[in-house]
Amino acid sequence: QGKTYQFKLVLLGESAVGKSSLVMRFVKDHFDEYRESTIGAAFLAQTISLDDNTTVKFEIWDTAGQERYKSLAPMYYRNANCAVVVYDITQAASLEKAKAWVNELQRQADPNIVIALAGNKCDLDSRRAVETETAQEYADEAGLLFFETSAKSAHNVTQLFTSIAKKMPLD
Ligand code: GDP
Ligand code: MG
Repeated sequence: QGKTYQFKLVLLGESAVGKSSLVMRFVKDHFDEYRESTIGAAFLAQTISLDDNTTVKFEIWDTAGQERYKSLAPMYYRNANCAVVVYDITQAASLEKAKAWVNELQRQADPNIVIALAGNKCDLDSRRAVETETAQEYADEAGLLFFETSAKSAHNVTQLFTSIAKKMPLD
């Protein structure tokens, strides 16, 4: 008879960085090469058991990255307890976009929001355009959790969500 905690999690980041793929990997342990792009936003839920007594249930809002949906984002992050901001390690511009999302969250979202930065597509190391150290340094400065992930290989996907769960206030 353990305790269950429920949190709202929002995914943000440029289009095609792999937000929906990370959610699919986490929730269904599945990867699609030809995933259709998200329209508006999609909702999924997944639970993590932290130990015998604690379960964290994430209500996940996967937003569309396209500019034309940008005005909808505040609706999803306004009540969010945690956020995963995603960039693609092969696209340097996607890290700049991720930084802009982090700034927006730090200014406009709940002051206690837990934010994780995910450098996705780390299976494509031969096409890497963002060094791990560069992103890690930024994440440390901005106070973010940081993982390089691959929705394709599943590398660090569970770790990403588990570390968020562990950073949430459980009382
Ligand atoms: P979103 O627009 O951010 O939701 O991105 P999607 O999840 O739709 O993914 C965009 C494209 O990148 C799709 O073709 C995915 O198959 C591909 N993709 C997503 N994650 C990865 C990954 O970790 N590695 C590789 N190689 N491709 C990925
Ligand atoms: Mg998507």
